[in-house]
Amino acid sequence: MDIFNKCSEFTEARDVMARGIYPYFRPVDPFHATTAKFEGKEVIMIGSNNYLGLTQHPRIIDAAKEALDLYGSSCTGSRFLNGTIDLHHQLEDHLARFLGKEAALVFSTGFQANLGVLSALVGRNEFVIGDREDHASIVDGCRLSFGKYLKYRHGNLDELESILKKHLDKPKLVVVDGVFSMGGDLADLPSIVPLCKRYNARLVVDDAHGVGVMGSGGRGTAEHFGVLDEVDLIVGTFSKSLASLGGFVAGDDDVVHYIKHHARSIIFSASMPPATVASADTALQILEEEPERVHRLHDIAEKMRKGFQDRGFDTGPSQTPIIPIKIGLGLIRTFEIWKSLIDAGIFTNPVIPPAVPPGDELLRTSYMATHEDEQLDRVLEVFGSVGKDVGLI
Ligand code: PMP
Repeated sequence: MDIFNKCSEFTEARDVMARGIYPYFRPVDPFHATTAKFEGKEVIMIGSNNYLGLTQHPRIIDAAKEALDLYGSSCTGSRFLNGTIDLHHQLEDHLARFLGKEAALVFSTGFQANLGVLSALVGRNEFVIGDREDHASIVDGCRLSFGKYLKYRHGNLDELESILKKHLDKPKLVVVDGVFSMGGDLADLPSIVPLCKRYNARLVVDDAHGVGVMGSGGRGTAEHFGVLDEVDLIVGTFSKSLASLGGFVAGDDDVVHYIKHHARSIIFSASMPPATVASADTALQILEEEPERVHRLHDIAEKMRKGFQDRGFDTGPSQTPIIPIKIGLGLIRTFEIWKSLIDAGIFTNPVIPPAVPPGDELLRTSYMATHEDEQLDRVLEVFGSVGKDVGLI
């Protein structure tokens, strides 16, 4: 048996391609952020994580160009050895100050941050406990660790409590998404924080979709709930609100110091390149200076959620600018509805199993602080007519 047999036997994606409704890996030119070019046609973009709409901001582009001129195109090495430049330290100090934590550490991606943090911290005879809807990078980080990985049903804190109680005497880490990336709902931190305290567990919140989005200053889900000081570690990414690429962890100095010397994804992988670090730092600066962007994003999220619900769409548990539109009609119907929308000028993301359970297929929509009201009204209008045509509403 050839190990490659599974590759020639994998036909699902090719079948969908042959029908002309394959939605993935297709080039998109995000030329104005809120609009994009898809196959030569201008579409309204409601399928990106560019929550603050900063990817085209002139200050960010200038900072990236300047860093490129000063430092070159790459650091060609790990943070551990030759790959740290002063900009990495500047960004780490800036982030730590912004989040009110003692220290921060930047990784080359958010995915690597989760892999590194979780595998470094959870050792043999220790426990890591996660929500079943935690992001894939959390799942992989937990699997990479030498500890025992346990999961509770999404948002089911009774189940979390019974796991914590059962392993009362063991060292434990609880890890949750702050904002769940598909449902757009929030981890119930006001309940999770006291549970962790009661059962002597440490808490990590992955706020990839929360920083720049939640809380009045954009400090994330913990700020939104007023528990920033009580979350032990905040993990995040620069690839969404902060208009760049890279990941981070922020927390107490000795914990960050330990991760820095034990996380294999930072030690054995090249560092964020200079232009990327400079973009992230400038985006963070803009977020601090212009919190009104976050407030506008909150208003837009509310308008869209209400707009969809008023038209009869099921927006699931969304409490954020991630608004899923439940389809639940199987993979092919989901792709067909996606195709009708893109043909009508609206870019969304179809989400199918294994990202969601079979029967829970959805279109993930997400918004930017820079979307204009006319664009948003157009989105609702097109959804209304496509939704009727396909029998969704
Ligand atoms: N955590 C969550 C919750 C995410 O949604 C993502 C990205 N989809 C990541 C981590 C990984 O971030 P990055 O894109 O920086 O690798």
